[in-house]
Amino acid sequence: MAPPGFRLWPLKTEAFGNENRKCATDVLPATYHYHATPGKRAVGDPAEDVPAFLQSELSLGGLPGLLKHLWFAGAARPAMPLHLHVARGREIVVLDQMHMHLLSTNDSEGRLFVKPVPRFLLSLKFCQENLQCPPGCPCPDPPVTTTCRGIPRSVALGFLYTYACLISSKTDFHLANEKRLLPRNDHNDEPISWPSWKTLARELLHTHAHDPSIFHPRFHRAELRLSRLNTISRLITSRPYARSHHSYGNFFRHNLAWTAAATVFVALVLTAMQVGLATDRLQEDPAFQRASYGFTVFAILAPLGVFGLMVLRALFHLARDMPLLLGWGGRRKRAAAVGAAPVFDAKLTAAVTVVGKQPEP
Ligand SMILES: [Zn+2]
Repeated sequence: MAPPGFRLWPLKTEAFGNENRKCATDVLPATYHYHATPGKRAVGDPAEDVPAFLQSELSLGGLPGLLKHLWFAGAARPAMPLHLHVARGREIVVLDQMHMHLLSTNDSEGRLFVKPVPRFLLSLKFCQENLQCPPGCPCPDPPVTTTCRGIPRSVALGFLYTYACLISSKTDFHLANEKRLLPRNDHNDEPISWPSWKTLARELLHTHAHDPSIFHPRFHRAELRLSRLNTISRLITSRPYARSHHSYGNFFRHNLAWTAAATVFVALVLTAMQVGLATDRLQEDPAFQRASYGFTVFAILAPLGVFGLMVLRALFHLARDMPLLLGWGGRRKRAAAVGAAPVFDAKLTAAVTVVGKQPEP
């Protein structure tokens, strides 16, 4: 629980100059996508219901439920500078979803998902109007009043703090602008100036050093490994945190790759056993005979079993996604539904879906 003194937005730096004459909602995006019901995407007007928009935009998805186990997915340290990620061969993938921010994959591409800084988070006026609690709010977790902004405020601060760590030098700053990770001036499309960024980053560092408790605990560990996060989620919720297969073809390709590697290893062992059986000493050894027999049976049955499990898993996903593909879902009156999400055939999909204005997975 954050102390009452921190119910206000703590930052004072105005990254884009004085915006007092501007309407606070001018910095919002055109529309936003959310889940009206599980599997049913909808599009809403952010200016129409700013708290609902912020709930969706700053949602961490299923991460809060996994906080105690995040030690397995990433070390408790600040984010590495952006140029170091690039130097390590990671592809920076822009993904506008808070629950995917700074998740890395260890596949052949070595991707790092990064959410760009939304324009509204660098507007002091907007944050002061929409990310502050009323006087006396104790900011309980979970919030008990609709006016408490404790959780979204802590997520916003934690998210901005990761950027203070990611963009450390001018090299990182240029890389971030190249990837359009930092917002630009609405009028002339000019990026934020380097002196303004330095002021904001230093203020974030000082605020974090003064009281790290006002930053959401998810951001105490910056980069998280998606594969390990999926393992944690499978153990706790029986579902992966985010699916990484874009299609059935991708699913089979990925699984057949490691199956082929395992088959080569099994073939090597079988060849060695065959050579062993040709020698006089091992030919008469009953223990080696038994081991050879067992491994040969395993080498015949294991590939069949693995392929069968792959097919069953694909069929399971197809059966589970069928209601979504057929459009069997609830409707929400206020928003325009844009059709069912073909989950298995879609992009990275958060496994934890909550009804309401949740972010589009
Ligand atoms: Zn509050």
